[in-house]
Amino acid sequence: MKVGFVYDPIYLKHDTGHHPENAQRLEAIISHLEQTGLKQQLTPIKPRPATTEELSLVHQEQYISYIQEVAQRGGGWLDADTVMSADSYDAALYAAGGVIKATEAVINGKVSSAFALVRPPGHHATHQRAKGFCLFNNLAIATKYALARYELERILIVDFDVHHGNGTQEAFYDNPQVLYISTHQYPHYPGTGRIEEIGSGTAKGTTVNIPLPGGCGDAEYQQVFDQIVVPVAKRFKPQLIMASAGSDLHWTDELALMQVSITGCAQIVKIIKELADELCSGRLVFTLEGGYNLTALAASVKATFDVLLGNTNIEDPLGQPRYRWAAPGIAPLIKAIKERHNIA
Ligand SMILES: [Zn+2]
Repeated sequence: MKVGFVYDPIYLKHDTGHHPENAQRLEAIISHLEQTGLKQQLTPIKPRPATTEELSLVHQEQYISYIQEVAQRGGGWLDADTVMSADSYDAALYAAGGVIKATEAVINGKVSSAFALVRPPGHHATHQRAKGFCLFNNLAIATKYALARYELERILIVDFDVHHGNGTQEAFYDNPQVLYISTHQYPHYPGTGRIEEIGSGTAKGTTVNIPLPGGCGDAEYQQVFDQIVVPVAKRFKPQLIMASAGSDLHWTDELALMQVSITGCAQIVKIIKELADELCSGRLVFTLEGGYNLTALAASVKATFDVLLGNTNIEDPLGQPRYRWAAPGIAPLIKAIKERHNIA
């Protein structure tokens, strides 16, 4: 069972200065994978730049040229949170191309699953806007690429970054071939992801939002995965599963208020892997989105690889939250989502 990973030093050249989404994030991950000896157990997948045609599967051409122009001018701020440097355009092309390469490797059977360790992240980027540290929507581009290139008919996206993937939702809102399921803190950035957002036209029901109150921990995530994510995924019968992975649901993360541990993150990955094994011959592609505490980020990525490799000993260097506040009751929320999506 080969597990692939995508990485390239070009991702470090997206220079954001003093910013939570910075190059140290990937440096921390790679050095942790090296120090623990895990990197040697993985199959490297070399990224390539995405073409303009591939980016256009999700983004407006005018927007793509605008990002290129800002890079040529030496970079600058695109919105209040999102900044780029002279090399960010190239890094972003390789980020999208890296997820495409990971997806190809999984579909071609070169590896059974893969994790693309890329930046800039992607799930907030929309058709024509950079947003929330994201330039191009790497996972949405690779998903559209897989639909077109391999004539797939059903792809499941599970987005468990603590923020709602507004850009990914938008890209597939009217597309019944893609089931988008997101767990996220709500209300929180970016403000989208209400239960009522379920897709449009023939795609009604193929967007499933699970907006969770702050304070949810391992037990609450286990409940929503068992009671909502798993049955909806089984009903959809995907041919490939794509996952937007963010470790910002961890209790140490300063950009959100969840209380999930590394053990809890590993459990989420395990549930997704079991779905892939049961529904689509294990075909599973992870993409890195957020996660801003470097220790938690590195540990959660390692735990993800451990689960994908079938290693049973999951290290949790940070343990459970030090000051766990009362978990919110989410039974009424689960009930409302089950009713909205006709889950028995
Ligand atoms: Zn996030």
